[in-house]
Amino acid sequence: MGSSRLELYEPALETMSREELQSLQLKRIKWQLKRCYENSVFYKEKFDKAGVKPEDVRSISDITKLPVVTKQELREEQEKYPPYGRYAASPPEDWREIHPTTGTTGAQVYNIWSEKDVQNITHWTARTLWNFGVRPGDIIQNAFSYGLWVAGMSSHYAARELGCLVIPTGATPADRQIDYLIGARPTVLLATPSFALYLGERLAERHVSPESLALRIGCFGGEPGAEVASTRKKIESGLGIAAFDYYGLAEIGPTCASECPEKTGIHWVEDHVLVELVNPQTMKWCQPDEAGVLVMTHLTKEATPMIRYWSNDVARLDVARCACGRTHARSPGGILGRADDMIVYRGAKFYPTQIERVLRSFKELSDEYRIELATDEKRSTNICTVVVECLSEDIDKAQLEERVRAALRAELQVAPAIRFLEFGTLERTTFKAKRIVDKRKPN
Ligand SMILES: [Zn+2]
Repeated sequence: MGSSRLELYEPALETMSREELQSLQLKRIKWQLKRCYENSVFYKEKFDKAGVKPEDVRSISDITKLPVVTKQELREEQEKYPPYGRYAASPPEDWREIHPTTGTTGAQVYNIWSEKDVQNITHWTARTLWNFGVRPGDIIQNAFSYGLWVAGMSSHYAARELGCLVIPTGATPADRQIDYLIGARPTVLLATPSFALYLGERLAERHVSPESLALRIGCFGGEPGAEVASTRKKIESGLGIAAFDYYGLAEIGPTCASECPEKTGIHWVEDHVLVELVNPQTMKWCQPDEAGVLVMTHLTKEATPMIRYWSNDVARLDVARCACGRTHARSPGGILGRADDMIVYRGAKFYPTQIERVLRSFKELSDEYRIELATDEKRSTNICTVVVECLSEDIDKAQLEERVRAALRAELQVAPAIRFLEFGTLERTTFKAKRIVDKRKPN
């Protein structure tokens, strides 16, 4: 891809040397810490408690002197100082939009964008779409839920910045989405990977060939999946597209990491977000190649900046220059899992994405699955069962079970039990699929 470098959205920012990038980051960190200390009581109290003044941060690694911020902490802050807590660093008259966390694991946390935040987030999301190959004149079907979810509005704004026509289908049901894919001839689809897989399934059931659509590019986020090779292949063949993965979270912003045409990991927007990788046991920076929890700091965010936000998402980090020319660090393989989704079973530690990778390599199985964790009370041990759907009832299940378990054992070092269901039994979702069903009794 020798020519891709010329086609970057902002080549000067995306290909600067690591030294230049780090000095830009340091300048922005200093600006951010000073304004947080001066304007946010939440941060002032936090820094004072840690005995750190903004001017004590003289290098990027000095940021580790500051404590991390957790979602639970923001929730408690909001509860104590309703409605928005005291972590905003700009005055209310500068606030423009609220994008809360989804609230799937407790009360939602409010994240606020100023006008400048809307512009910056729009701009880096446009850069993300550009790097996927989206160009002026493309027609974008935006199947990300609009409204509160951070991905819908930001990709809508970004499509406008790029000069594209947007079809704001949002959370419209699958069959209506397909009507638009056929009728309005979009060239780009934005969706969650599980919804994209389902759209592919429905297309096949409706006997619509992917080649008859105008789709060229798919941008997938909201949950891990598109960077898993077997999942990507299914999405690509199901919809006749090139599929790209991105990662974002409401507290930090949408598309803060995304793939390039080389598909060697997701590149971070390191000019807007500082990314650290922290070992959750020692709370120290990870060694190269070691997986750890992503901790993020807003470098340009005005309204509700996050300083060392504990994402709870596990990844690796590679700072070597990519073949695409970019110097912004990459996470090979994308997000590996949630730190607290890690399954410990018979001494082995693994993440749901590893199970997904194995299951998606079996063409006898559908794309849906669940991981059930339960307690075997007689033996006071945990049981892990992977629930899958067979595409056909004529399959020799005993033989298939043996092959799936062997493949799982090779990946995880242990072999969970397998339970087969009829195709279509497991719930399909347009939003984030819930893969783990935890019925374990607390000990
Ligand atoms: Zn790259």
